[in-house]
Amino acid sequence: MSNDNAIRGSRPQAMPRASQKFPEGRICAAPDCVTRLSTYNKRDKCWAHAEMKVPRLRGRKPAAGSA
Ligand SMILES: [Zn+2]
Repeated sequence: MSNDNAIRGSRPQAMPRASQKFPEGRICAAPDCVTRLSTYNKRDKCWAHAEMKVPRLRGRKPAAGSA
């Protein structure tokens, strides 16, 4: 069902490992942040700082009567 795309055919490891790993030990680019970045994080900042531009969707009151 959900794993219909699983191993099929004769190439169980056909998919080349995405070796897009980044150096370890990187930290957030924000001056005051020392959050360690994941080696898989392609950003320069931790998610908290990287999303600073994203407006919070909070504060929006749900339409009355939706509850
Ligand atoms: Zn940060």
